[in-house]
Amino acid sequence: MIDLTIVEALKKLKSREISATELTRAHLSRIEKFGSELNCYITTTPERALADAAAADERYANGTARVLDGIPIAMKDLFATRGIRTTAASKMLENFIPEYESTISQKYIDAGTVLLGKANLDEFAMGTFSKTSYFGAPVSPWQRERKLTAGGSSGGTTSAVAGGLAMGGTGTDTGGSIRFPASITGLVGVKPTYGLCSRWGCIAFASSLDTPGPIARTVDDAAILLSIMAGHDPKDSTSAPNQNFHIESELEPILGNGKKLRIGIIKEFKDVEISADMKKIFEARIADLKSAGAEIVEVSIPNILDALAAYYIIAPAEASSNLARYDGVRYGLRVEGNDIYDTYKKTRAAGFGEEVQRRMIIGTAVLSSESYDVYFMQAARVRRLIANAFNKAFEQCDLIVCPAGAGTAMPLDSDLSPLEYYALDLFTVAMNLAGVPAVSTPAGLATNNLPLGMQVVGKRFDDLRVLQLAKHIQQFSGVDNRPTKIMGE
Ligand code: GLN
Repeated sequence: MIDLTIVEALKKLKSREISATELTRAHLSRIEKFGSELNCYITTTPERALADAAAADERYANGTARVLDGIPIAMKDLFATRGIRTTAASKMLENFIPEYESTISQKYIDAGTVLLGKANLDEFAMGTFSKTSYFGAPVSPWQRERKLTAGGSSGGTTSAVAGGLAMGGTGTDTGGSIRFPASITGLVGVKPTYGLCSRWGCIAFASSLDTPGPIARTVDDAAILLSIMAGHDPKDSTSAPNQNFHIESELEPILGNGKKLRIGIIKEFKDVEISADMKKIFEARIADLKSAGAEIVEVSIPNILDALAAYYIIAPAEASSNLARYDGVRYGLRVEGNDIYDTYKKTRAAGFGEEVQRRMIIGTAVLSSESYDVYFMQAARVRRLIANAFNKAFEQCDLIVCPAGAGTAMPLDSDLSPLEYYALDLFTVAMNLAGVPAVSTPAGLATNNLPLGMQVVGKRFDDLRVLQLAKHIQQFSGVDNRPTKIMGE
C-alpha cells in the first residue's frame, strides 16, 4: 500500500477497495519501522492520524468525502498547528504549542488529509542539508548504508515521502528548500508563484521570498496538493488576489499531437560546472522534449549568477528582522538574566544555533546605515534586474528548463564551509528573487544510481503549464521512486 501514489490511493478509497484507516496504519507502521533511522519527523501524531482517518472513512461511507480524504501527509514543522508542538527545528521553540492553525495546514485539514506528523527541517529553514536542525539531520532513504543527506531545508518531508513514511507533504522554499531536497531524493518539489499559497501561520524566515509548496512522488500528486494549498488569503498581505489554481483531474499533456511549445535554456547557466551525469541527463531530457515536438531556444538572464550574492544579503536581512521577536518575552525559550537586556542576550544565545546566529549577524550588518546602500540596495537592484530579465525571456519562450542542482546527494558528514553550502543554491535562488514558479522533477539516475533533478520555470502564475511540462520530464526520466524500491519493504 506504501507504493501507491495519491492519485491511485484516492481511486481505491473512493471505490472502497481500501479504507483510510488501513492506509494510515500502513504508514504508521512504516514510521515505527524506519522513523528513528530516517529522523524525518520531529513530532509524530499517530492518535490524531487515526482519528483523521476514521473521520475520512465515515465521510466515504456517507457520501460526503472531501478532495483528499484519507491521504496521510507530513507537515513541515514550520507550519503552526493548533495544539501540536511547532518547533521550526529550533531549541528556541522546542516546547512551543501554537493556539492557532496556519492557513496551509488548515487547508490540508479541510481537504480531509491525515496528519502523520511534523517533519524535520533546517533550523528556521536556514540550510541545505537539514543539518542545522536542533533535532539532528534527517537521512535520505536512498542507499541508507551511506547516510546521505535528504537535502534541506525541507529534508524531513523529502525523507518521509521518498521512504514511504508519508504520501506527500509540505515544504517551504525561500531559496531552494523544496526543489533541492526533492531533486536529490527522486521526488517532485513545487515552488509556486510567490503569493499563490498563503504564508499566514508559517514561521517566517525571509518574508519576501518564503513560498509554501508541496512535495510528492509524482507531478500529478504534487498538482493536487498544490490545488488545495493555493488560494487568496486576506490574512496574508502578500497573498495574490484574483488567482485561481484549481485542478480537477490529472494534468493534460502540453506536448505531442502537434502542440507548439518553446522551451528556453538559460545561456548563463551553460558555463556553470555540473557533474558529468547531470550534464548527460539534462541533455538527454532536452533531446526527449525536442522529439516530443518542443522548440528549444536560448535565453539570457544576464545577472543570474549574481543571484546568490543578492539572495545571501536579502534573505539574512529579512531574517534578522523576523527573528527579532524571539526575545524570551513573547514566545518560546526564556533564559533569565540580570536585567531585561541580559535576558534577551542569554535567551538568544542559548536558543539559536550557529547558522541562525550567523544569518542574523550578516543581516544586521547589511542593514546598518553604513552598509545599507552598498549591500542591501545593490542586492535589491540585482533582484529587480533578474525579475525583469525573466519577464523578457518569457517573451521568447513559454517555459524554461535548467538543472536543479549540480550533482547527486552527498553524505551527511561531508565537511562543507558555510560558503560551500550557500553555493549549492546557485540554480534555485534566482526564481525566489523573481517570484516565478519553479518545479523540480526527477530527470534521471546518475551512474551511482542516485536520482538527479531538473527544474521547469514559468512566468508568474503560469504554475499549471510548469507542472504540465514537469510531468513529461518525469515520464521520460524513468526514475522509479516507489518507496519499497528505494529502501525495501
Ligand atoms: N539553502 C538556502 C538557505 O540556506 C535556502 C533555504 C530555504 O529555501 N529555506 O538559505
